[in-house]
Amino acid sequence: MSVPARSPALEPWRDPAAQPFVRIEGVTKTFGKVYACDDISLDVYRGEFFALLGGSGSGKSTLLRVLAGFESPDRGRVLIDGIDVTDLPPYERPVNMMFQSYALFPHMSVAQNIAFGLKHSSGGARPGAGEIRDRVQQMLELVRMPQLGNRKPDQLSGGQRQRVALARALAKQPKLLLLDEPLGALDKKLREHTQFELVSIQERVGTTFIMVTHDQEEAMTMSSRIAVMDAGRIVQVSTPAVLYEYPSTRFVAEFIGGINLLEGRVLGHDGDGDLRIQCDGVGGELLARHPDPLPEGTAVGIAVRPEKIDVHETKPEGFDNAVMGKVRDIAYLGDVSIYHVQTEAGAVLRVQETHVARSSQPHYDWDDTLWLSWDAASAVVLTS
Ligand code: ADP
Ligand code: MG
Repeated sequence: MSVPARSPALEPWRDPAAQPFVRIEGVTKTFGKVYACDDISLDVYRGEFFALLGGSGSGKSTLLRVLAGFESPDRGRVLIDGIDVTDLPPYERPVNMMFQSYALFPHMSVAQNIAFGLKHSSGGARPGAGEIRDRVQQMLELVRMPQLGNRKPDQLSGGQRQRVALARALAKQPKLLLLDEPLGALDKKLREHTQFELVSIQERVGTTFIMVTHDQEEAMTMSSRIAVMDAGRIVQVSTPAVLYEYPSTRFVAEFIGGINLLEGRVLGHDGDGDLRIQCDGVGGELLARHPDPLPEGTAVGIAVRPEKIDVHETKPEGFDNAVMGKVRDIAYLGDVSIYHVQTEAGAVLRVQETHVARSSQPHYDWDDTLWLSWDAASAVVLTS
Protein backbone atom coordinates (compact mmCIF):
# COMPACT_ATOMS: atom_id res chain seq x y z
CA MET A 1 0.00 0.00 0.00
CA SER A 2 1.43 3.37 -0.96
CA VAL A 3 -0.21 5.59 1.61
CA PRO A 4 1.98 8.54 2.59
CA ALA A 5 3.84 7.65 5.76
CA ARG A 6 3.48 10.06 8.66
CA SER A 7 5.59 9.86 11.78
CA PRO A 8 4.51 7.21 14.31
CA ALA A 9 3.93 10.02 16.86
CA LEU A 10 1.08 11.30 14.68
CA GLU A 11 -0.11 7.81 13.80
CA PRO A 12 0.30 5.78 17.01
CA TRP A 13 -1.75 2.91 15.55
CA ARG A 14 1.22 2.23 13.25
CA ASP A 15 3.53 1.92 16.24
CA PRO A 16 3.41 -1.61 17.71
CA ALA A 17 4.76 -0.29 21.05
CA ALA A 18 2.08 2.40 21.49
CA GLN A 19 -0.43 1.84 24.31
CA PRO A 20 -4.06 2.43 23.39
CA PHE A 21 -5.88 5.03 25.47
CA VAL A 22 -9.27 3.36 25.07
CA ARG A 23 -9.38 -0.39 24.66
CA ILE A 24 -12.62 -2.18 23.83
CA GLU A 25 -12.27 -5.95 24.22
CA GLY A 26 -14.85 -8.35 22.82
CA VAL A 27 -17.83 -6.19 23.75
CA THR A 28 -21.21 -7.78 23.05
CA LYS A 29 -24.51 -6.10 23.89
CA THR A 30 -27.85 -7.66 23.02
CA PHE A 31 -31.40 -6.35 23.29
CA GLY A 32 -33.59 -9.46 23.17
CA LYS A 33 -32.51 -11.19 19.97
CA VAL A 34 -30.76 -8.12 18.51
CA TYR A 35 -26.97 -8.03 18.68
CA ALA A 36 -26.52 -4.24 18.89
CA CYS A 37 -22.78 -4.82 19.45
CA ASP A 38 -21.44 -8.17 18.32
CA ASP A 39 -18.01 -9.02 19.75
CA ILE A 40 -16.42 -5.63 19.13
CA SER A 41 -12.73 -5.04 19.78
CA LEU A 42 -11.17 -1.66 19.09
CA ASP A 43 -8.23 0.45 20.23
CA VAL A 44 -8.29 4.25 20.22
CA TYR A 45 -5.15 6.28 20.95
CA ARG A 46 -4.67 9.41 23.03
CA GLY A 47 -5.54 12.58 21.17
CA GLU A 48 -7.40 10.89 18.33
CA PHE A 49 -10.57 12.27 16.79
CA PHE A 50 -12.10 8.87 16.15
CA ALA A 51 -15.35 8.25 14.25
CA LEU A 52 -17.81 5.36 14.49
CA LEU A 53 -19.48 5.39 11.08
CA GLY A 54 -22.41 3.28 9.95
CA GLY A 55 -26.02 3.25 8.85
CA SER A 56 -28.96 3.57 11.19
CA GLY A 57 -29.22 0.63 13.61
CA SER A 58 -25.61 -0.54 13.07
CA GLY A 59 -24.84 -0.26 16.80
CA LYS A 60 -22.89 3.02 16.95
CA SER A 61 -24.87 4.65 19.76
CA THR A 62 -24.93 1.45 21.79
CA LEU A 63 -21.14 1.19 21.64
CA LEU A 64 -20.83 4.85 22.69
CA ARG A 65 -23.24 4.27 25.58
CA VAL A 66 -21.19 1.25 26.70
CA LEU A 67 -18.11 3.53 26.74
CA ALA A 68 -20.01 6.15 28.75
CA GLY A 69 -21.34 3.55 31.19
CA PHE A 70 -25.03 4.06 30.32
CA GLU A 71 -25.21 0.47 29.10
CA SER A 72 -23.32 -2.50 30.54
CA PRO A 73 -22.12 -5.08 28.04
CA ASP A 74 -23.23 -8.72 28.22
CA ARG A 75 -19.63 -9.74 27.56
CA GLY A 76 -16.31 -7.99 27.14
CA ARG A 77 -14.39 -5.18 28.82
CA VAL A 78 -13.70 -1.48 28.42
CA LEU A 79 -10.38 -0.01 29.55
CA ILE A 80 -9.69 3.71 29.65
CA ASP A 81 -6.16 4.90 30.29
CA GLY A 82 -5.23 1.40 31.41
CA ILE A 83 -8.06 1.09 33.96
CA ASP A 84 -10.90 -1.41 33.59
CA VAL A 85 -14.05 0.74 33.81
CA THR A 86 -16.52 -1.95 32.71
CA ASP A 87 -18.23 -2.04 36.10
CA LEU A 88 -17.93 1.68 36.95
CA PRO A 89 -20.99 3.93 36.79
CA PRO A 90 -20.89 6.85 34.32
CA TYR A 91 -19.96 9.52 36.88
CA GLU A 92 -16.89 7.58 38.03
CA ARG A 93 -15.46 7.38 34.51
CA PRO A 94 -13.10 10.06 33.14
CA VAL A 95 -15.59 10.49 30.34
CA ASN A 96 -18.19 13.00 29.28
CA MET A 97 -20.83 12.87 26.60
CA MET A 98 -21.81 15.82 24.44
CA PHE A 99 -25.48 15.96 23.61
CA GLN A 100 -27.05 17.88 20.77
CA SER A 101 -27.64 21.59 21.29
CA TYR A 102 -31.30 21.20 22.21
CA ALA A 103 -30.16 19.61 25.46
CA LEU A 104 -29.15 23.07 26.80
CA PHE A 105 -31.27 24.44 29.66
CA PRO A 106 -33.34 27.22 28.11
CA HIS A 107 -33.89 29.16 31.35
CA MET A 108 -30.16 29.34 32.15
CA SER A 109 -27.59 31.70 30.63
CA VAL A 110 -24.78 30.36 28.50
CA ALA A 111 -22.37 30.70 31.45
CA GLN A 112 -24.78 28.91 33.80
CA ASN A 113 -25.20 26.12 31.30
CA ILE A 114 -21.44 25.66 31.07
CA ALA A 115 -21.04 25.83 34.85
CA PHE A 116 -23.83 23.33 35.45
CA GLY A 117 -21.68 20.23 35.08
CA LEU A 118 -18.96 21.67 37.30
CA LYS A 119 -21.36 22.53 40.14
CA HIS A 120 -22.88 19.09 40.01
CA SER A 121 -19.68 17.09 39.86
CA SER A 122 -19.54 14.34 42.43
CA GLY A 123 -16.96 13.57 45.07
CA GLY A 124 -13.95 15.67 46.03
CA ALA A 125 -13.42 17.15 42.58
CA ARG A 126 -16.04 19.91 43.01
CA PRO A 127 -14.35 23.27 42.32
CA GLY A 128 -15.00 26.54 44.21
CA ALA A 129 -16.98 29.51 42.87
CA GLY A 130 -13.93 31.45 41.65
CA GLU A 131 -12.52 28.44 39.93
CA ILE A 132 -15.85 27.76 38.25
CA ARG A 133 -16.01 31.35 36.95
CA ASP A 134 -12.48 31.07 35.53
CA ARG A 135 -13.18 27.73 33.93
CA VAL A 136 -16.39 29.00 32.34
CA GLN A 137 -14.56 32.00 30.86
CA GLN A 138 -11.79 29.71 29.60
CA MET A 139 -14.38 27.51 27.90
CA LEU A 140 -16.14 30.53 26.36
CA GLU A 141 -12.83 31.64 24.89
CA LEU A 142 -12.11 28.15 23.64
CA VAL A 143 -15.33 28.13 21.63
CA ARG A 144 -14.75 31.77 20.55
CA MET A 145 -17.71 33.24 22.41
CA PRO A 146 -15.97 35.23 25.18
CA GLN A 147 -18.62 37.99 25.25
CA LEU A 148 -21.72 35.83 25.14
CA GLY A 149 -21.83 34.29 28.62
CA ASN A 150 -24.96 36.22 29.65
CA ARG A 151 -27.07 35.30 26.65
CA LYS A 152 -29.84 32.73 26.87
CA PRO A 153 -29.72 29.77 24.44
CA ASP A 154 -32.64 31.20 22.42
CA GLN A 155 -30.57 34.33 21.72
CA LEU A 156 -27.93 32.27 19.92
CA SER A 157 -27.62 30.84 16.43
CA GLY A 158 -27.76 27.06 15.96
CA GLY A 159 -23.98 26.91 15.52
CA GLN A 160 -23.40 28.95 18.69
CA ARG A 161 -25.71 26.70 20.68
CA GLN A 162 -23.71 23.73 19.47
CA ARG A 163 -20.50 25.37 20.67
CA VAL A 164 -22.04 26.00 24.10
CA ALA A 165 -22.99 22.32 24.32
CA LEU A 166 -19.37 21.48 23.52
CA ALA A 167 -18.06 23.98 26.10
CA ARG A 168 -20.35 22.46 28.72
CA ALA A 169 -19.12 18.97 27.91
CA LEU A 170 -15.44 19.99 28.01
CA ALA A 171 -15.68 22.12 31.18
CA LYS A 172 -15.18 19.11 33.45
CA GLN A 173 -11.98 18.33 31.55
CA PRO A 174 -12.86 14.74 30.70
CA LYS A 175 -10.05 12.57 29.35
CA LEU A 176 -12.46 11.25 26.75
CA LEU A 177 -15.34 13.06 25.08
CA LEU A 178 -18.09 11.09 23.39
CA LEU A 179 -20.22 12.80 20.74
CA ASP A 180 -23.35 11.17 19.28
CA GLU A 181 -24.24 12.77 15.92
CA PRO A 182 -23.05 16.12 17.34
CA LEU A 183 -23.95 18.15 14.27
CA GLY A 184 -27.16 16.31 13.42
CA ALA A 185 -29.39 19.30 14.30
CA LEU A 186 -27.58 21.75 11.99
CA ASP A 187 -28.33 22.53 8.36
CA LYS A 188 -25.80 21.59 5.70
CA LYS A 189 -23.88 24.85 5.42
CA LEU A 190 -23.59 25.45 9.14
CA ARG A 191 -22.71 21.83 9.58
CA GLU A 192 -19.67 22.09 7.32
CA HIS A 193 -18.46 25.21 9.09
CA THR A 194 -18.98 23.64 12.51
CA GLN A 195 -17.07 20.51 11.45
CA PHE A 196 -13.90 22.57 10.99
CA GLU A 197 -14.57 24.45 14.20
CA LEU A 198 -14.96 21.23 16.19
CA VAL A 199 -11.73 19.77 14.80
CA SER A 200 -9.83 22.95 15.58
CA ILE A 201 -11.12 22.97 19.18
CA GLN A 202 -10.25 19.30 19.60
CA GLU A 203 -6.72 20.00 18.38
CA ARG A 204 -6.34 22.85 20.86
CA VAL A 205 -7.58 20.94 23.94
CA GLY A 206 -5.99 17.63 22.88
CA THR A 207 -8.81 15.60 24.48
CA THR A 208 -9.52 12.24 22.85
CA PHE A 209 -12.84 12.43 20.95
CA ILE A 210 -14.99 9.51 19.80
CA MET A 211 -17.82 10.63 17.55
CA VAL A 212 -20.77 8.73 16.14
CA THR A 213 -22.02 9.69 12.69
CA HIS A 214 -23.93 8.16 9.79
CA ASP A 215 -22.50 10.81 7.44
CA GLN A 216 -19.44 9.50 5.60
CA GLU A 217 -18.30 12.95 4.46
CA GLU A 218 -18.42 14.18 8.02
CA ALA A 219 -16.38 11.21 9.23
CA MET A 220 -13.89 11.65 6.37
CA THR A 221 -13.28 15.36 6.93
CA MET A 222 -13.07 15.30 10.72
CA SER A 223 -11.42 12.09 11.87
CA SER A 224 -7.97 10.70 12.43
CA ARG A 225 -9.45 7.23 11.93
CA ILE A 226 -12.82 5.70 11.22
CA ALA A 227 -14.40 2.40 12.27
CA VAL A 228 -17.08 1.39 9.78
CA MET A 229 -19.89 -0.53 11.48
CA ASP A 230 -22.52 -2.82 10.01
CA ALA A 231 -25.02 -4.94 11.96
CA GLY A 232 -23.22 -4.63 15.30
CA ARG A 233 -19.79 -5.43 13.90
CA ILE A 234 -16.77 -3.41 12.87
CA VAL A 235 -16.05 -4.01 9.21
CA GLN A 236 -12.89 -1.92 8.78
CA VAL A 237 -10.82 0.49 10.87
CA SER A 238 -8.53 2.84 8.97
CA THR A 239 -7.58 6.41 8.24
CA PRO A 240 -9.97 8.22 5.89
CA ALA A 241 -7.44 7.95 3.03
CA VAL A 242 -6.97 4.19 3.40
CA LEU A 243 -10.71 3.59 3.71
CA TYR A 244 -11.26 5.53 0.52
CA GLU A 245 -8.42 4.03 -1.51
CA TYR A 246 -8.35 0.51 -0.06
CA PRO A 247 -11.81 -0.50 1.12
CA SER A 248 -11.65 -4.10 2.38
CA THR A 249 -15.19 -5.16 1.48
CA ARG A 250 -17.94 -4.31 -1.00
CA PHE A 251 -19.92 -2.82 1.87
CA VAL A 252 -17.18 -0.33 2.77
CA ALA A 253 -16.45 0.46 -0.88
CA GLU A 254 -20.08 1.40 -1.48
CA PHE A 255 -20.55 3.17 1.85
CA ILE A 256 -17.61 5.54 1.41
CA GLY A 257 -17.95 7.89 -1.55
CA GLY A 258 -19.10 7.17 -5.09
CA ILE A 259 -17.68 4.04 -6.63
CA ASN A 260 -18.11 1.72 -9.61
CA LEU A 261 -18.45 -1.89 -8.58
CA LEU A 262 -18.17 -4.57 -11.26
CA GLU A 263 -18.46 -8.30 -10.63
CA GLY A 264 -16.07 -10.76 -12.19
CA ARG A 265 -14.13 -14.02 -12.01
CA VAL A 266 -10.36 -14.49 -11.82
CA LEU A 267 -8.81 -15.91 -15.02
CA GLY A 268 -5.16 -15.79 -13.96
CA HIS A 269 -2.25 -13.33 -13.84
CA ASP A 270 -0.58 -11.26 -16.53
CA GLY A 271 3.20 -10.81 -16.88
CA ASP A 272 3.25 -7.89 -14.38
CA GLY A 273 1.48 -9.90 -11.69
CA ASP A 274 -1.85 -8.10 -12.14
CA LEU A 275 -5.01 -10.16 -11.96
CA ARG A 276 -6.85 -10.94 -15.21
CA ILE A 277 -10.55 -10.89 -14.46
CA GLN A 278 -13.41 -11.88 -16.72
CA CYS A 279 -16.11 -9.24 -16.34
CA ASP A 280 -19.33 -10.02 -18.15
CA GLY A 281 -20.70 -6.53 -17.47
CA VAL A 282 -18.11 -5.02 -19.82
CA GLY A 283 -18.09 -8.06 -22.10
CA GLY A 284 -14.40 -8.84 -21.64
CA GLU A 285 -11.28 -8.98 -19.54
CA LEU A 286 -10.06 -6.40 -17.02
CA LEU A 287 -6.73 -6.04 -15.25
CA ALA A 288 -6.56 -5.16 -11.56
CA ARG A 289 -3.77 -5.06 -9.00
CA HIS A 290 -4.08 -7.14 -5.85
CA PRO A 291 -1.42 -7.85 -3.23
CA ASP A 292 -2.30 -11.54 -2.84
CA PRO A 293 -2.55 -14.23 -5.50
CA LEU A 294 -6.10 -15.48 -6.02
CA PRO A 295 -6.98 -18.86 -7.51
CA GLU A 296 -8.55 -19.06 -10.94
CA GLY A 297 -12.33 -18.92 -10.76
CA THR A 298 -12.51 -16.78 -7.58
CA ALA A 299 -15.53 -14.47 -7.67
CA VAL A 300 -14.37 -10.89 -7.06
CA GLY A 301 -15.67 -7.35 -7.07
CA ILE A 302 -13.67 -4.75 -8.99
CA ALA A 303 -14.07 -1.28 -7.50
CA VAL A 304 -12.97 1.85 -9.37
CA ARG A 305 -13.56 5.43 -8.20
CA PRO A 306 -15.12 7.70 -10.86
CA GLU A 307 -12.23 10.18 -10.71
CA LYS A 308 -9.73 7.42 -11.55
CA ILE A 309 -11.36 6.86 -14.94
CA ASP A 310 -10.22 8.83 -18.00
CA VAL A 311 -12.61 9.66 -20.80
CA HIS A 312 -11.62 9.57 -24.51
CA GLU A 313 -13.47 10.17 -27.77
CA THR A 314 -11.57 7.47 -29.65
CA LYS A 315 -10.10 4.15 -28.61
CA PRO A 316 -7.13 4.88 -26.33
CA GLU A 317 -3.91 2.87 -26.69
CA GLY A 318 -1.58 1.68 -23.99
CA PHE A 319 -4.01 1.49 -21.05
CA ASP A 320 -4.48 -1.55 -18.79
CA ASN A 321 -8.23 -1.23 -19.17
CA ALA A 322 -10.29 0.40 -21.92
CA VAL A 323 -14.01 -0.08 -22.41
CA MET A 324 -16.49 1.53 -24.77
CA GLY A 325 -19.94 2.78 -23.87
CA LYS A 326 -22.70 5.30 -24.50
CA VAL A 327 -23.65 8.30 -22.36
CA ARG A 328 -26.98 7.47 -20.69
CA ASP A 329 -27.17 10.22 -18.08
CA ILE A 330 -25.49 13.54 -17.34
CA ALA A 331 -25.52 15.48 -14.08
CA TYR A 332 -24.06 18.98 -14.10
CA LEU A 333 -22.91 19.87 -10.58
CA GLY A 334 -21.11 23.15 -11.27
CA ASP A 335 -17.59 22.10 -10.42
CA VAL A 336 -17.91 18.69 -12.06
CA SER A 337 -20.17 16.82 -14.43
CA ILE A 338 -21.01 13.18 -13.77
CA TYR A 339 -21.70 10.89 -16.72
CA HIS A 340 -23.29 7.48 -16.56
CA VAL A 341 -21.80 5.45 -19.37
CA GLN A 342 -23.32 2.10 -20.34
CA THR A 343 -21.29 -0.57 -22.09
CA GLU A 344 -22.82 -2.74 -24.79
CA ALA A 345 -22.75 -5.69 -22.38
CA GLY A 346 -24.83 -3.71 -19.87
CA ALA A 347 -22.59 -2.40 -17.05
CA VAL A 348 -23.06 1.28 -16.17
CA LEU A 349 -19.97 3.22 -15.09
CA ARG A 350 -19.94 6.60 -13.39
CA VAL A 351 -17.18 8.90 -14.57
CA GLN A 352 -16.55 12.54 -13.83
CA GLU A 353 -15.25 15.54 -15.67
CA THR A 354 -13.83 18.46 -13.67
CA HIS A 355 -14.67 21.94 -14.90
CA VAL A 356 -11.69 24.22 -14.58
CA ALA A 357 -12.82 27.18 -16.66
CA ARG A 358 -15.88 29.12 -15.53
CA SER A 359 -17.71 28.73 -18.81
CA SER A 360 -17.21 24.97 -18.85
CA GLN A 361 -20.24 22.94 -19.76
CA PRO A 362 -20.55 19.18 -19.95
CA HIS A 363 -18.38 18.16 -22.86
CA TYR A 364 -20.41 15.19 -24.01
CA ASP A 365 -24.03 14.63 -24.83
CA TRP A 366 -26.64 11.89 -24.40
CA ASP A 367 -25.87 8.85 -26.58
CA ASP A 368 -22.34 10.00 -27.39
CA THR A 369 -19.97 7.05 -27.67
CA LEU A 370 -17.03 7.29 -25.28
CA TRP A 371 -14.01 5.22 -24.31
CA LEU A 372 -13.14 4.85 -20.67
CA SER A 373 -9.71 3.85 -19.41
CA TRP A 374 -8.09 3.18 -16.05
CA ASP A 375 -4.93 1.64 -14.63
CA ALA A 376 -4.83 -1.80 -13.05
CA ALA A 377 -3.43 -0.08 -9.94
CA SER A 378 -6.49 2.21 -9.67
CA ALA A 379 -8.85 -0.71 -9.22
CA VAL A 380 -9.43 -2.47 -5.90
CA VAL A 381 -10.19 -6.18 -5.93
CA LEU A 382 -12.75 -7.21 -3.30
CA THR A 383 -13.26 -10.78 -2.16
CA SER A 384 -15.91 -10.10 0.50
P1 ADP B 1 -27.19 3.33 15.64
O1 ADP B 1 -26.76 4.31 16.68
O2 ADP B 1 -26.04 2.82 14.79
O3 ADP B 1 -28.31 3.82 14.80
P2 ADP B 1 -28.11 1.73 17.89
O4 ADP B 1 -26.90 1.43 18.68
O5 ADP B 1 -28.98 2.83 18.39
O6 ADP B 1 -27.71 2.01 16.36
O7 ADP B 1 -29.02 0.43 17.77
C1 ADP B 1 -28.48 -0.83 17.37
C2 ADP B 1 -29.59 -1.85 17.43
O8 ADP B 1 -29.97 -2.08 18.79
C3 ADP B 1 -30.86 -1.45 16.72
O9 ADP B 1 -31.44 -2.59 16.14
C4 ADP B 1 -31.73 -0.91 17.83
O10 ADP B 1 -33.09 -1.04 17.51
C5 ADP B 1 -31.34 -1.78 18.99
N1 ADP B 1 -31.48 -1.06 20.28
C6 ADP B 1 -30.72 -0.04 20.70
N2 ADP B 1 -31.07 0.37 21.93
C7 ADP B 1 -32.09 -0.44 22.32
C8 ADP B 1 -32.89 -0.54 23.51
N3 ADP B 1 -32.70 0.27 24.54
N4 ADP B 1 -33.84 -1.50 23.52
C9 ADP B 1 -34.03 -2.34 22.49
N5 ADP B 1 -33.31 -2.30 21.36
C10 ADP B 1 -32.35 -1.36 21.26
MG1 MG C 1 -27.45 6.28 16.98
